[in-house]
Amino acid sequence: MVARSRHDGGVSNDALPQMRPDTLAVHGGRDDLLSLGVHAPPLDLSSTYPLTSFEDGGDSLEALLTGGGPTSGGFVYSRAWNPTVARFETALAALEHADGAVAFASGMAAITGSIMAAMMRKEGRHIVAVRPLYGGTDALLDSGALGTEVTWCEAKTVSDAVRDDTCLVVIESPGNPTLDLVDIAAVVEAAGGAPVLVDNTFATPVLQNPLDLGASLVVHSATKYLGGHGDVLGGVVAGSHDWIEAIRPVRALTGGVLHPLAGYLLHRGLPTLPVRVRTAQENAARIAAWLDEHDLVARVHYPGLPGADPEGLIGRQMHGPGAMVAFRPVGGHAQVVRLCESVKLFTHAVSLGGVDSLIEAPEAFTHRMVDADEKPDADVIRLSIGLEDVEDLITDLDQALRASL
Ligand SMILES: *Cc1c(COP(=O)(O)O)cnc(C)c1O
Repeated sequence: MVARSRHDGGVSNDALPQMRPDTLAVHGGRDDLLSLGVHAPPLDLSSTYPLTSFEDGGDSLEALLTGGGPTSGGFVYSRAWNPTVARFETALAALEHADGAVAFASGMAAITGSIMAAMMRKEGRHIVAVRPLYGGTDALLDSGALGTEVTWCEAKTVSDAVRDDTCLVVIESPGNPTLDLVDIAAVVEAAGGAPVLVDNTFATPVLQNPLDLGASLVVHSATKYLGGHGDVLGGVVAGSHDWIEAIRPVRALTGGVLHPLAGYLLHRGLPTLPVRVRTAQENAARIAAWLDEHDLVARVHYPGLPGADPEGLIGRQMHGPGAMVAFRPVGGHAQVVRLCESVKLFTHAVSLGGVDSLIEAPEAFTHRMVDADEKPDADVIRLSIGLEDVEDLITDLDQALRASL
């Protein structure tokens, strides 16, 4: 049955294991297209699926609700499995060198699902978290909404913070918004067996693969670079079979599923991910160096600048410094406000990782919900550098810096 083979959920990376990242980005999650006689992946919007038989349908539902893939009984219900979403998951898992991935409705839903699965696996609720983290993650952990007990610490004090009942260590590198790099392998070692989750949103799998460094889970706000066009909200977590089997049922039960159209768009974004990230990174390196020389700029935060990566993590942990830049204008917070309102080509908006360049002040926006003592400074501006001509971006920043003095 052709329809069944398209729906077998068996899209795999079997033909791709020896391929390099740029090839995986283009071909991941597509290995059955030829046999289907199509060139673009089908978009399956079904909310429910015909049960192949009473018995097999039940078996498939059982498999899906306990974390496995669908069986010959079909997909049963789209909250448990959707083949379009599965294509994106398969491709992302290949890019992150993971056994599998689970996609969610947003990055925050993916982080929530991961934390819940970690608590259930360990039957413990203690979490170690290293600041800085994305403002939403920080606020989620700080709020205790998930019933977690959190010990906040720095990367170098993780070993003191970890306890026997620690179910997860949460880190982010590059950190948001200061772009400080955290030595992932060192944190994994310091965690002494406690699983480590790395938010890899800023680096993307093009620049960094945390699972290769010993992390247990890698999570993305797919809203950012993976989608890359500012038109889809999503999240994804990748890891070993064990972890995937723990996280899938949490997604099915809590319902934070990715819509198939979003899954389609995210999958469509992946083939261009490597070229987008590398071009944006080239622009960002140029802009960071230019800002660093500017007389109206007090300080630039960019891991690619001389002296900004004392541990030499670029090259060892990351293939490059990425496309996010932060800086402090000489005029402090008042200039930050005027500058954000003076740009003409940049868009004053939160979010990041799209084809167009964005500017925002983390203290007022992305990190607004963070505890007052832990917030980023009010004189920091964060740039997400896109794919425009870098000279036009520099011209815009220069006029905005002068207009805002
Ligand atoms: C945006 C973001 C998130 C949250 O993702 P949403 O898709 O907005 O829910 C998590 N981590 C980082 C680093 C982010 O930039």
